Amino acid sequence: MRNFSYLRATSATEAGQAAQQAGAMLLAGGTTLLDLAKCGVSEPETVIDITHLSGMGSIVVDTAGARIGALARMSEVADHKDIRAVFPAVSESLSLAASAQLRNMATIGGNLLQRTRCSYFRDPGAFPACNKRNPGSGCSAIGGVTRNHAVLGTSQACIASYPGDLAVALVAFDAVVETDSRKLAIDDFFLCPGDTPDRETLLQRGEIIIAIDIPASDVARNSTYLKVRDRQSYEFAAASAAIGLELEADGRTIRDIRVALGGVAAKPWRARAVEQALVGKALEADAVEKAGRLAMEGAVAHGGNRYKIELAQRVVARAILKMGGLA
Ligand SMILES: Cc1cc2nc3c(=O)[nH]c(=O)nc-3n(C[C@H](O)[C@H](O)[C@H](O)COP(=O)(O)OP(=O)(O)OC[C@H]3O[C@@H](n4cnc5c(N)ncnc54)[C@H](O)[C@@H]3O)c2cc1C
Ligand code: SF4
Repeated sequence: MRNFSYLRATSATEAGQAAQQAGAMLLAGGTTLLDLAKCGVSEPETVIDITHLSGMGSIVVDTAGARIGALARMSEVADHKDIRAVFPAVSESLSLAASAQLRNMATIGGNLLQRTRCSYFRDPGAFPACNKRNPGSGCSAIGGVTRNHAVLGTSQACIASYPGDLAVALVAFDAVVETDSRKLAIDDFFLCPGDTPDRETLLQRGEIIIAIDIPASDVARNSTYLKVRDRQSYEFAAASAAIGLELEADGRTIRDIRVALGGVAAKPWRARAVEQALVGKALEADAVEKAGRLAMEGAVAHGGNRYKIELAQRVVARAILKMGGLA
């Protein structure tokens, strides 16, 4: 890890200006940044510490929804009683992410901006070819070990999956990312790799995430996050689903439904085809399983990740049926 200089910012404006310099990086909880610096993926010249900025760590929940400061810790949001009541899927996605120690350290802004767990990306010494790290160098994963790679939203340049949990719940419920200069719908905020896998979000150099807004809705209040992973203690998702379900007064007909997928796509993945297939339909196992298959429309497997196609369909169906009291 190479030496870097350290700046403790006293305001978001100072941090934003300093972060515009080449080689500068913002430091929040540091659990992604320092990891990547140690393995040689990130080589910051200046680290700008924003953890002490005031006003960016608050969590406010009212009738309009929730506003979560970018510096709120994962554990604070997961355990917040109003977030648990009004946005259960958001709370669960955080409780099921990483370890307790990491959740106590890591922030919401940093969580959204975590990088892929593609092992080729994280080992520059052994695998120089990585279009995400080094544009135009190729992709070491294609034709390699791909068990954790994406099947949706990939390109010929990169098949890495987005690893985070929280963003999946946020995409399901139309959250908005507020930066120091604009507001961005979270579904637009994350980018698929296309020809430029090094560009993962719409953030510009030096732009700081200030807060996340999540609008309140009945469908968000009745929601869950189901995560399937290789071990229960802590692990990234092999496949996950954030589901919101609102039924008509008859207790059977689906009035509104939200479906988003994690662990299987290049970005947090909203499965609108599943939602459209189920709105207005009776909540029945056959219909849900059939609609769940639409979640994987357009999926492309690369060897070892083929299992994700069936797994994700099952995760979606199981989560919807669980919400509806049928599983
Ligand atoms: C062993 C391990 C297991 C994990 N398991 C999971 C898991 O199961 N699920 C999951 O979702 N995550 C998991 N993670 C990832 C973890 O959640 C992230 O490392 C963490 O959320 C990052 O937050 P941070 O505050 O530490 O970010 P930092 O490391 O401080 O920052 C990350 C990036 O975001 C930038 N940044 C930070 N804040 C801002 C801001 N406000 N505005 C603009 N840029 C900003 C930084 O410059 C940096 O590039 C795991 C991590 C580890 C190490
Ligand atoms: S999948 Fe993406 S991140 Fe992984 S080696 Fe290929 S280009 Fe790099």
